[in-house]
Amino acid sequence: MGHTIVDPKPSLFTFKIPDNGNWKALAGISLQDCCCVLTAGGGAKFEQRGPMLITHWGVSGPAILKLSAWAARALGSNSYTAELNLDLCPQVPVEELTSEILRMKKLKNKAFSSLPLSMKETSFPRRLWGYLLSRQKIPEDARFSELKDKTLRKVALDCKRLALPVQGKGPFKEEFVTSGGVDLREVDLKTMRSKKINGLYFGGEVLNIDGETGGFNFQSAWTSGFLAGKDLAKRVS
Ligand SMILES: Cc1cc2nc3c(=O)[nH]c(=O)nc-3n(C[C@H](O)[C@H](O)[C@H](O)COP(=O)(O)OP(=O)(O)OC[C@H]3O[C@@H](n4cnc5c(N)ncnc54)[C@H](O)[C@@H]3O)c2cc1C
Repeated sequence: MGHTIVDPKPSLFTFKIPDNGNWKALAGISLQDCCCVLTAGGGAKFEQRGPMLITHWGVSGPAILKLSAWAARALGSNSYTAELNLDLCPQVPVEELTSEILRMKKLKNKAFSSLPLSMKETSFPRRLWGYLLSRQKIPEDARFSELKDKTLRKVALDCKRLALPVQGKGPFKEEFVTSGGVDLREVDLKTMRSKKINGLYFGGEVLNIDGETGGFNFQSAWTSGFLAGKDLAKRVS
């Protein structure tokens, strides 16, 4: 029909994370506040902060879905591979968390059963704390006093910047929306009329419009449909 189509790519999806270090065992854990930074091909960086959910295939939740919306095109042209860095405890600066964890060396407590106070205050999941310790090969029965400063510093760093490889997205057709579609420059956005073909209208997802979660995609479909209908009614009356 002579209209330019911006290459369609899926948007609003979850990320697949390979199961290195027993990630799947954490499925079901959620964090109310997590800062997620995605580095896609060519070094493009995307950042979102909010609730994050660990699933049996990777990560999901509002922060991840929003990240996928902004990074949809960069990820799509990079076979859905990227690096994801999670700050699991964004409320506490890294220096503060490191000194707090180092101070715990004075305790005789078992490392797996004692969370740093600042993390306890944020209801940090105990299983996730155990995962961070296991990543440093700390035995389950180890006491804080037996651990080296270097190891504890690494635990704090991991908590603030957990690097995970993204190797794919959630299943095809489980994405919520399409990024790309009819080029907006070729549509009159006041009436949704095609600027190229008389009598042709566009509305909804067929257009190169996509939004984050929160009803923006529905709103776009309803609004563009309403505008097209209104103009069409004016024409025929
Ligand atoms: C699982 C899921 C959850 C979502 N959740 C949200 C949300 O919470 N908030 C939000 O804002 N958006 C959400 N979306 C996105 C939202 O549903 C879409 O953006 C919106 O429905 C697009 O409206 P549309 O009318 O353009 O297209 P559609 O709703 O896809 O409607 C197109 C219609 O055209 C019909 N059709 C297709 N081909 C033909 C043909 N050749 N002849 C006749 N009929 C045809 C289809 O059967 C369909 O009924 C979600 C999407 C999915 C998949």
